[in-house]
Amino acid sequence: MAVLWLDDVDADDLETVGGKAASLGELTGAGLPVPPGFTVTAETYRTFIEEAGIDEELFAAVDVDPEDSDALRAAEERASELILGTDLPEPVREEIVESYRQLGDDDEEAFVAVRSSATAEDLPDASFAGQQETYLNVREEKLLQRVKECWASLFTQRAIYYRQQQGFPHDEVDIAVVVQRMVDAEKSGVMFTSHPSTGDPQVTIEAAWGLGEAVVSGSVSPDNYVYDRAANAVADVTVADKKTMMEKDSETGETVEREVPEDRRTERVLSDAEIESLVELGERVEDHYGQPQDVEWAIVGGEVFMLQSRPITTISESASETGTEDADPAEDADTEAGDHAGEPAGVNGDDDEDVLVQGLGSSPGVVSGTVRIVTKLDHLDQVQEGDILVTEMTMPDMVPAMKRAAGIVTDEGGMTSHAAIISRELGVPAVVGTRTGTKQLENGQRVTIDGDKGTIRAGADSEAEPAEEFEPVEAARPQTPVKPMTATEVKVNVSIPEAAERAAATGADGVGLLRIEHMVLTLGKTPERYIADHGARAYQDQLIEGIRTVAEEFYPRPVRVRTIDAPTDEFRDLEGGDDEPREHNPMLGWRGIRRSLDKPDVFQQELTAFNRIYEMGYDNVELMFPLVNDAADLAAAKRQMREAGIDPDGRRWGVMIETPASALRIEELAAAGIDFASFGTNDLTQYTLAVDRNNEHVAERFDETHPAVLELIGRTIETCRELGIDTSICGQAGSKTEMVNFLVEEGVSSISANIDAVRDVQHEVKRKEQRILLDSVR
Ligand code: PEP
Ligand code: MG
Repeated sequence: MAVLWLDDVDADDLETVGGKAASLGELTGAGLPVPPGFTVTAETYRTFIEEAGIDEELFAAVDVDPEDSDALRAAEERASELILGTDLPEPVREEIVESYRQLGDDDEEAFVAVRSSATAEDLPDASFAGQQETYLNVREEKLLQRVKECWASLFTQRAIYYRQQQGFPHDEVDIAVVVQRMVDAEKSGVMFTSHPSTGDPQVTIEAAWGLGEAVVSGSVSPDNYVYDRAANAVADVTVADKKTMMEKDSETGETVEREVPEDRRTERVLSDAEIESLVELGERVEDHYGQPQDVEWAIVGGEVFMLQSRPITTISESASETGTEDADPAEDADTEAGDHAGEPAGVNGDDDEDVLVQGLGSSPGVVSGTVRIVTKLDHLDQVQEGDILVTEMTMPDMVPAMKRAAGIVTDEGGMTSHAAIISRELGVPAVVGTRTGTKQLENGQRVTIDGDKGTIRAGADSEAEPAEEFEPVEAARPQTPVKPMTATEVKVNVSIPEAAERAAATGADGVGLLRIEHMVLTLGKTPERYIADHGARAYQDQLIEGIRTVAEEFYPRPVRVRTIDAPTDEFRDLEGGDDEPREHNPMLGWRGIRRSLDKPDVFQQELTAFNRIYEMGYDNVELMFPLVNDAADLAAAKRQMREAGIDPDGRRWGVMIETPASALRIEELAAAGIDFASFGTNDLTQYTLAVDRNNEHVAERFDETHPAVLELIGRTIETCRELGIDTSICGQAGSKTEMVNFLVEEGVSSISANIDAVRDVQHEVKRKEQRILLDSVR
């Protein structure tokens, strides 16, 4: 049998049908109204390649040097040729098509979603082991092709690279495919079956007209309904002005955005009866899993469907893990990890005698583990799953070891150092800038690190995450937030594409900063060397792959991608780094747009990669230039854009405000045609106060809320508002309560925060906006 109906699978069938199908089957089995569908089993894929006799050639073709990008590209191509070019056996074709026909009506073909459902759940990062293709609005004509394309997605360059690097055999990963009828929703939205922070029996529902994409992407303000399960009554209704909705175009099947007719904009989406049916479903799914759920739902023709359900990790649970009392900044504005940035090492720690070493808490969470001191790269393999990695300063090559680690401690670096940024994105607790960690801690010693307080204590803490069971990325997957609607957009910063999924799960309104230099640093070679060794096209491909992962995850939410900004000392550790100039002050040196403009050959490859991304249809990508000073920089940058085929008037692009010069010259930058200006407060602070952002000796003087910094920001926002230019912040300070309040007061358009801070920032923005409104009424 090539297919299994969702009715016939459940959570135990992971091996046969993959994770996605197993969870849909589990819901179906619990009697919940999941749209009907079936899965083409993993075994069908396996039998297909084996019986066609392409398996050996396939696995041989993808067994390539992962560092050789030409070979990787050729491997992807060959795998796809083999799979797509081989006919499905007749009985399999028939069974799939027959099953598909049962999803339609007599007179109408069904539109279905075709999604990969990989079975390699035992891979540490299964989420990107396969590219997890999804095709929407598929009909019979394309169905079999799409199924094979899902199979082929097991062998994208990225997936091959990843498995080769991890030493995971290609022939041990299988893939199932889910084919499920699409619901042409008249209304849809999300529901939290209990209050996500207190666990109280209070249901929150967000609802909008049309397809759910509008609510999930944040492109429309949904209605908000609160239902009190204890009192069995609707407790609160907030009706929003819903200007747009997503609908399926009946001709093409594509999802299109339409205007909501005037008379329906402020009409309530859900009646009390509909709320009650949703609540009833919510209670059933919560009972089934024994845990509050975050549910995606849709209603069509009076029928309610459940599209997806995921557990909500409640705030209080995560708060006790991380040592914070309550994640709501309203109650305790000082609990954010980010707020320790400006405090000197030693001030905010425990007085505890057990404190061995103190630094800056730079990635929240408390964890116990065994110290593993790494002084040279060749010791990296000694870092085992669950160890505490202790090092002078992290390097890009350390990322795989950082992923294995339960916690990270560094001697050097500040809150915006490589170690701090990456550990936050991986969700691994970290303490940076301890000065003496590598000297005072000993290999094999058991310690507990607190990434909020910045302490390393002796011994294991019973309240800490047990290190043995700690899976950094998965375990730290953030709670699905009840996203408060705010006029100021709240976005998220991303530096490594692997973090895209966690970042998107925060419900952020987009990515405010994607730093692409981290992708280059991970290549292990300077851009110049990479191009010399592998060719310009391969370099573009690498950038495209990383950017696309993020753009895809967030689509259609906007993603601001910044051109490369790495100081020469970071490039020096890479292959080709010997050719980097030796600079006394790399922070004041050849970095950002200065380097790009001086090296047009390399810059052209980067911009061409952007242009190729646009051509692929990722119109949500916005281009941002770092370390710009004045209009002369932008005139040169625009010439380069045009040369790479990008029309500056046809795309959204903008600048970072990172130097006092750029803040003071904002009018001329505006005249150059920017669409947005984003405050890079890490650099703006360092250049305004002359305090090195990465120097732990002056960490206490690094104050992003210094009046001089705030004055530059305030003036820039004011001018931009007059000129109709969007403003944003994407420096570390965007995660801090004080800065958030200041920026909302000044009228910033958006705030981009670290993954772990998005939820707090959403709430803080909402509170501040409400306060401003109230004040204006009073
Ligand atoms: C900044 O300077 O604030 C910024 C976001 O850029 P980076 O930290 O990459 O220099
Ligand atoms: Mg910067």
